[in-house]
Amino acid sequence: MTARDFQLACPTPLRHRTVQLAHGGGGRLSRELIEQVFMPAFGGAALSARHDGAVVEAPRGRIAMTTDGYVVRPLFFPGGDIGKLAICGTINDLAMTGATPRWLAVAFILEEGLPMDDLVRVVASMRDVARAAGIEIVTGDTKVVDRGKGDGMFVTTTGLGVVPEGITIEPRAVRPGDAILVSGDLGRHGIAVLSMREGLTLTGALESDCAPLDGLVSALLSGGVVPHCLRDPTRGGLASALGEIAIDADVDLEIDERSVPVSETVAGACELFGLDPLYVACEGRLVAFVPEEHAARAIEVMRAHPAAQVPARIGKVLANADPGRAGRVTLRSRLGTNRLLDIPAGEQLPRIC
Ligand code: MG
Repeated sequence: MTARDFQLACPTPLRHRTVQLAHGGGGRLSRELIEQVFMPAFGGAALSARHDGAVVEAPRGRIAMTTDGYVVRPLFFPGGDIGKLAICGTINDLAMTGATPRWLAVAFILEEGLPMDDLVRVVASMRDVARAAGIEIVTGDTKVVDRGKGDGMFVTTTGLGVVPEGITIEPRAVRPGDAILVSGDLGRHGIAVLSMREGLTLTGALESDCAPLDGLVSALLSGGVVPHCLRDPTRGGLASALGEIAIDADVDLEIDERSVPVSETVAGACELFGLDPLYVACEGRLVAFVPEEHAARAIEVMRAHPAAQVPARIGKVLANADPGRAGRVTLRSRLGTNRLLDIPAGEQLPRIC
């Protein structure tokens, strides 16, 4: 959707071509922004009630909840933008618990002077992903900060989902003997954002892998796979995701580098920037810890699903060989040597989500 579509859907066109401080002031301009940008895009039953809080019909059972702030720079990158990223990120964190994502709250922090067209573009892509995933944006907030103080736009999304009965997917459910799988090749998101930021043209088109994973998770569950744990390898990439699970589940993990899928374009860009692809963020991939007897079925389900690209079995879970120390991740390299994969102190790539 473009700014023009919005204007066609609105009784009066937006008065300002850029975001003004008053758009976050709670007065007439705030209302104009809500009525002419947010309502046409997000306006479901709960939002249309125009109340201080959203009231939704909740089913019996367990609710999963998650929240995330998004500060990606630049706001638009190959394969997505900050809005798509914010919705997918929240959907995916809910999906990793086995929940069906249902409701979303969105808070925008806008910088004075942001082109209104940019905001409209971001809002439209949020609407598209949310709609496709069947998730309703039920409440939100907008604040505007002074020019030079906000880098265009920051977005915070909070999501609620419903966990089906009998589903428990969590780090402490991981067991020695579990197979470790990934749903696709790694590092596309981080490299797509970085190459855009650095103005680098890569050989081979590269788009972010940014995508919702809820459909893939429900396909696994309905396909008879009982994952012990799922994790989306976002900030810090695969290595950090594995490192966290090893510590939290108190197990050792063994990964075979040759089986970890990385595209030639990502591998080449990583070499150029001096990055390790195992630490580069994905925004549309998952790592699954599944009982050995479910591994083949899980790969089969992933292969048949559009949200999984080249699923692979990358390693296995072992008992912590030295109880008393934290669980750790060993990578068996292409050369047959072993190295420990540490969780990095900070981010290899800042501002990529
Ligand atoms: Mg996550």
